[in-house]
Amino acid sequence: MAAIIDVDRLSFSFGSGVLVQPVLKDVTIAIRQGEIVLITGPSGSGKTTFLTIIGGLRQAFHGSVKVLDQQLINSNEQVKIKVRQQIGYIFQQHNLLKSLTALQNVSMTLEMGNTLTEQQRLERSARMLIAVGLGDRLHYKPDQLSAGQRQRVSIARALVGQPKIVLADEPTASLDKQSGYEAVSILKQLAKESQTTILLVTHDYRILDVADRVVELEDGVIKTI
Ligand code: ADP
Ligand code: MG
Repeated sequence: MAAIIDVDRLSFSFGSGVLVQPVLKDVTIAIRQGEIVLITGPSGSGKTTFLTIIGGLRQAFHGSVKVLDQQLINSNEQVKIKVRQQIGYIFQQHNLLKSLTALQNVSMTLEMGNTLTEQQRLERSARMLIAVGLGDRLHYKPDQLSAGQRQRVSIARALVGQPKIVLADEPTASLDKQSGYEAVSILKQLAKESQTTILLVTHDYRILDVADRVVELEDGVIKTI
């Protein structure tokens, strides 16, 4: 089966001229649909940069990066938008809007480019929050939730649009061991049910066992562990 994420000799640098800083060096990796891949590696090794390029959030120019059959190298904005619409993002900090409830935070993501009615958006969002174990917290605002619960809202928000790919950047970094493990287990379970591909950056060794495959990024070079 063709890879859903197919990266071939991707190189990326910040800066230019004498200030150029190579961050990714000839990175090659292919990820299949439904696979859960964890990327580990020391701080500063290029993990976030890699994820943002895959997610169409940062432009790269050297090598090949095909995501959902779209070439992102030297791509135009339309191509990146098309890819972004099929990706759910989860960040280290939950990035929820403080003034909105859990339900509103999740349903907001369904508003763009979608044909659902408000009622349908709310129903689908409520179902997703129930799936992550927050059925009794639908109308709570972020400040009224624990860190683990907030991250589960982020998971619901990332998955509610039924994305083909979820990109997660250190999603357990601000969580204790128990809630971190719970959050990624829920993410894994829901992803497996819907054949969603997950690329998750972490240096949290406690969650490595949720992965189908673990790769390490060190000084911009990828290695399989
Ligand atoms: P990681 O996520 O593995 O910690 P990053 O991808 O964030 O690593 O960063 C890789 C390298 O690129 C680091 O040396 C970092 O300082 C540098 N870097 C990251 N973002 C920028 C930026 N916007 N401008 C310049 N350098 C950056
Ligand atoms: Mg990072």
